[in-house]
Order: sequence, then C-alpha cells, then structure tokens
Amino acid sequence: AVINFGSINVDHVYQVDHFVQPGETLASSDYQRLLGGKGANQSIALARAGSEVWHVGKVNEADATFKQTLIRENINCKHVSCTETASGHAIIQVTPSGENAIVLFGGANHELTSKDIMYALDAAKSSDWVLTQNETSGIDQVLLQAKEKGLKVAFNPAPMTESVKHLPHHCIDLLIVNEVEAEEISGHENLDKIEAYFRQEWPHAEVLITLGKAGVRMLKKDKTIDVPAFEVTAVDTTAAGDTFIGYFLSAYADHSDSKSALLKACAASALAVTKAGAAQSIPTKEEVSRFLAK
Ligand code: ADP
Repeated sequence: AVINFGSINVDHVYQVDHFVQPGETLASSDYQRLLGGKGANQSIALARAGSEVWHVGKVNEADATFKQTLIRENINCKHVSCTETASGHAIIQVTPSGENAIVLFGGANHELTSKDIMYALDAAKSSDWVLTQNETSGIDQVLLQAKEKGLKVAFNPAPMTESVKHLPHHCIDLLIVNEVEAEEISGHENLDKIEAYFRQEWPHAEVLITLGKAGVRMLKKDKTIDVPAFEVTAVDTTAAGDTFIGYFLSAYADHSDSKSALLKACAASALAVTKAGAAQSIPTKEEVSRFLAK
C-alpha cells in the first residue's frame, strides 16, 4: 500500500472577465466548488492506477463530503479526520484566456499532529511506501519516522518553499520534482547541472525530474533514463504532475521496472492534460492501457 500524508483542499473556482483589481468588487459569471489539493489529487491518481492507498489528512467537519468523495475513489480514509478549523482551500479566479490567480489557505492541512502521524505509521506494513508533499504539517516527522520504520519514502516538494532545503534528505528514497522545484533546490537552470547537483548532494535518493511537454529524466544510482512526453493537444495542464506521481509510484511500488513505470506515468499525465480540471482529468488505468496500446 501507499500511505499518503496529503492536503485535502476545497477549490472555489470563479470565472471572471479579468482578475479583480484593488478596491474592485467583481461579479463572477460561474462558480464551482471542487475537491483539490496536491495530496488528494495524488491519492486519486494512485487509486485510479490500481494501488491500495491510505490517505492521511484533515478537513473541516462541514466538508466531510470530500472525505466521502475520496472513499468512493477506493481510498482508505480511516486516517482522514475532521476538525473545527477551516479546511484548506483555494480561491481561484479564471479568466476567459484560461489564466488563473490563486489565493491559498492551508487551514486544517496544517493541523496534522505528531499523534496523527504516529498512529497512521503504526498501521503500516514493512512493504508499504510513504508519500508526502509540501502542503501539510509535520513533514519532518513523516520522513524521519517512516525511514525509522524501514518504509520506502517518496517526497514531492510542492509547492516549493525555502524550508524544503532543511528537511532530513537522507530519509528520502524517491524525490519527485518539476523543473521549477529542481531549479530552486539545486540553484541551476541547465538540466545536466541539475543532475550533477542531485548526484552530488542527494546520493541516497533516486530523483525524477518532470519537464512538462519535454518529458521526464530519472536519476538512478547507475544510470540516467530520459523518457519523452507523448504528443497530445494540451487543454489544461492542471494536475499533470499529480497524475504523473500517482501513476509512477503505483507501478514502482508494485515492482515495475523504472522504464515501464515512467512510460505509464507519461501516458497517464498526457491524458490528463487533454482534459480540463484537476481530479476529474485524472484517467483510469483502463484509459491508460488503451492509450498505450494505440
Ligand atoms: P507539474 O504539473 O508538476 O508542473 P510537469 O509540467 O513537469 O509537472 O508535467 C508532469 C508530466 O506530465 C510530464 O513529465 C509529462 O510526462 C506530462 N506532461 C505535462 N505537460 C504535457 C504536455 N503538454 N503534453 C504531454 N505531456 C505533458
């Protein structure tokens, strides 16, 4: 199983003519309330890829419906608890050209306590993977305790913050970053320099660097693997990274070799960019198989 310590957000999506200006009151022509958060998206991608997933997180009592949504996706939510604090949420303005502007509030995602973390890890089996992003509290503890228990640890430092540089790196078996995160962590822009940095500074970790429509580079101990992206017509790249991570980790945790796990992840994320939205754009494993068979 994969145990994902991850955010659960309520995305409030407003269609607007232009981004609201200082002092302006702007009417929105359409509104949607959707399940979001990198954590929840990655759990959904893992589950749709066929993995057993345990999500660990917190939401406000009034948003318990989102927990039900995750349960309907076959995600084990025994360790998703409800609190009085506002749920993590995002106020998202979308303009006709598809640009967005986002205000994010961490809320309940930042109330994951030592106890919650300990309790969830106590239920882990030795073959389990632990996954986390940078949207919940207690990440240090998740990494340290998971490693102490001998579990495999995957980390996606998104959204990137300065604090990522000070996390206990040695606990991480698999680091998954996009170009921006790779540049910020390494201080380099050139891919070969980024690779050299990770090989030098993170020798214990395998590193996946996703490169948008340029595909992905994986750094393994003894080799570098480059896989190109599939050519598709991109409609909305939201959740491309989350889909990639869920599909890759699902295959990898199930002992697939790196190349075939990368191929599946590239196929799944290519399909995700052909559809609008976040969670609703994550394909099922049947859709991914059909796409790969073409
Ligand atoms: P993030 O969404 O985290 O910024 P990327 O943009 O690197 O991550 O995208 C993750 C993966 O999604 C890429 O490695 C690639 O396989 C796939 N992908 C992203 N954009 C496209 C695209 N325009 N066409 C095909 N595949 C894409």
